[in-house]
Amino acid sequence: MQPAPPTSTAAVSQDNATADLSFTQALNQTTPEEDTNIFVASQRGDVATIRSLLDSGRARATDRDAQNITPLHWAAINAQLPACRLLLDAGADVDALGGDLVATPMQWAARGGYLYVIQLLIAHGADPTIADSQGYNSLHLVTHSSSIMPLLYLLHQPVNVDSRDAQGHTALMWAAYQGDALSVDLLLRHGASPTVQDDAGLTPLHWAVVRGNRVAIRRLIEKGAVLSAKDAEGRTPRDMAVELKSLGAWKRALEEGGWDDEGNKRRGPMSERNTRFAIFVLPTLVFGVVFTTLAGLPWYTGILLAIAEFFGMHHIVTRVLLNKTSYTDSVNTTPYFAGIIAGSMVWVCYSWVTRLVGQTQSHALAHLLFALCVGLCAYNFFRAVTLDAGTCPRPGSDAELKSIIEDLASEGRLNGQTFCIQCMARKPLRSKHCRICDKCVARSDHHCPWVWNCVGANNHRQFVIFVLTLVFGIIFFDYLTYAYFSAIPIPIPPEASESTESSSCPLPSSLCAVTAHDPFLVSVAAWATLQLSWTFVLLASQLWQIARQMTTLEVSNLGRYGFMGGRGGASLHGQMGHRHQHATTPGDELDPTASGAAAGAHTHTSSGFLMNLLGFDRFTKGRAASGLARASKASNPFDLGLVRNCQDFWTKGKELGVEYERLYDVPMEGFEEAKKRREREEEMEGEGGAGGVGTSTRKGGKKGILESLAMSMGMGRAGSSRGGYEPISQV
Ligand SMILES: [Zn+2]
Ligand SMILES: [Zn+2]
Repeated sequence: MQPAPPTSTAAVSQDNATADLSFTQALNQTTPEEDTNIFVASQRGDVATIRSLLDSGRARATDRDAQNITPLHWAAINAQLPACRLLLDAGADVDALGGDLVATPMQWAARGGYLYVIQLLIAHGADPTIADSQGYNSLHLVTHSSSIMPLLYLLHQPVNVDSRDAQGHTALMWAAYQGDALSVDLLLRHGASPTVQDDAGLTPLHWAVVRGNRVAIRRLIEKGAVLSAKDAEGRTPRDMAVELKSLGAWKRALEEGGWDDEGNKRRGPMSERNTRFAIFVLPTLVFGVVFTTLAGLPWYTGILLAIAEFFGMHHIVTRVLLNKTSYTDSVNTTPYFAGIIAGSMVWVCYSWVTRLVGQTQSHALAHLLFALCVGLCAYNFFRAVTLDAGTCPRPGSDAELKSIIEDLASEGRLNGQTFCIQCMARKPLRSKHCRICDKCVARSDHHCPWVWNCVGANNHRQFVIFVLTLVFGIIFFDYLTYAYFSAIPIPIPPEASESTESSSCPLPSSLCAVTAHDPFLVSVAAWATLQLSWTFVLLASQLWQIARQMTTLEVSNLGRYGFMGGRGGASLHGQMGHRHQHATTPGDELDPTASGAAAGAHTHTSSGFLMNLLGFDRFTKGRAASGLARASKASNPFDLGLVRNCQDFWTKGKELGVEYERLYDVPMEGFEEAKKRREREEEMEGEGGAGGVGTSTRKGGKKGILESLAMSMGMGRAGSSRGGYEPISQV
């Protein structure tokens, strides 16, 4: 933490700087004595040397160097896990106080955010409540480290979340001051008080203003921070924002949270439910007006007016119904785009019934196919919108949550890919946390605003059928429209068209005459055809991905996913837990794994928004190309070959024998072997005829699948505790 403190924070940052200094000093110090020194060996994690020193009696685990520091301190601050374990086994004092700051080894490890060292020390009885000479306990120090997973781990230890340091700062104030929105969120979820005041009367909200992180500010206000709270000098957080020039962030936070300047909720003119309904229905009405406009006016004025009407609709939705001050904000959380799809379908059907059906009896087959497409399209659209996309289960109790965290930590893989900080739950493979839906979605493909839902394990098939029938429905509609106009006797006499506005029409006169016959139908067909562009691209990429057993998310971010050849949690990054760089991006992101394909969040320009809507963003992100290149090389454990990939897709994972909502590990032997073995086991169970046991291995008996998957990795539920503990990497 290198704070550039504003005046009001000088006191804190000074302390902090000293803390930093002494820790760095400690870290960089090399003892000038000979190499066989136990302190140097502990810094380097040289287990062999430590062991020989201890065995030969030349050193003891309880020795202290010139600065009164134990070898365990040195091993802990350098994240030397095996050395720590060896020293503890050799009788090192887990809560030894040492160094200038009179701190324990765990405090040294916490300052660095070394999750697995912290876990080891706690397992050996380290006390997280001990405070150093500055009054920082392990919770404060781990908050300083900005490492989210160690913070999570520590929050589930017996330490008071609102404990104060020497100046009365709580961990929440520190997180707010550092602009760590994720830590702020996590602390608030664990009951940290947003209203406490430090010795200078500053609340966490005052501190959040210092760094001006709008997500942190918003979360604090959501959780009940008082906007009018005054510090010892009578300043409110807003006064401080003015003083520190972070008023922009302050205003945006209020705006995004839907509050006015005083922190009162801005409300729309209607209840939430009615607002949603109105937003869904509005496009249908407006489209009727737009098409009538296009039909009734000369084309040049018609188009202008139609565009104006379209923007008028957008204005009504965002500014009136939602009562927001910007145009793109929060529209995604409403059924606006789904309403546009529904409205388009309504008017296509209307045109079909009123015009095409009666006049083109000779195209019976095309009519039949069109009707079929419309029926399937509407039904699957409805299903894709209303079905649950695949919500991943959350732990039912605090005890269960704690055991999940403990298990993951002891397996050396408590990180953003295995655990969702927002849901406080294990994160299945191939799932993603959707910020709009606010949940983890199993085998997440993407969040689709057009169906007002995520597309995931549970509604992906409906979504694909919807897009497929949409594309073919439009094609049949265009075909029938063409047939309809072809059948019209062309009014050849030019004087007939002279009375209309054809003189200004850019089309050839014969075509113009035809379209003039029914401009309403022409506008509807043109609008529908316009949709063919993006739906066709969407359909093609969806089918390709299904054949490859990949999701949109995976294609866009292939390198990040360990089970598909990425680095996964095996890096140092994984060992530290998630460490976010608030220096580079001022922590706008609440999602620890950044938010995949759809949100892209870093540069969310309006063109990005449009590309996202049209589904083109995956082609413009740059990552897609490298993702595709890797896709051909990386081994995808889910890949069963083209035919069976498709079968797996249509059977929702039956071919692989997985349940995506609860799929946490790739079996060592591969999915196919695991499935076969499970079937054999089920058969044997069946022969045993024990009805009671059968329930646990019954298909859909989630526990059964989970257990056999875990067993196949050589770490059944029982084995996953500390006994077989081998961290993935300790560099
Ligand atoms: Zn989640
Ligand atoms: Zn979603």
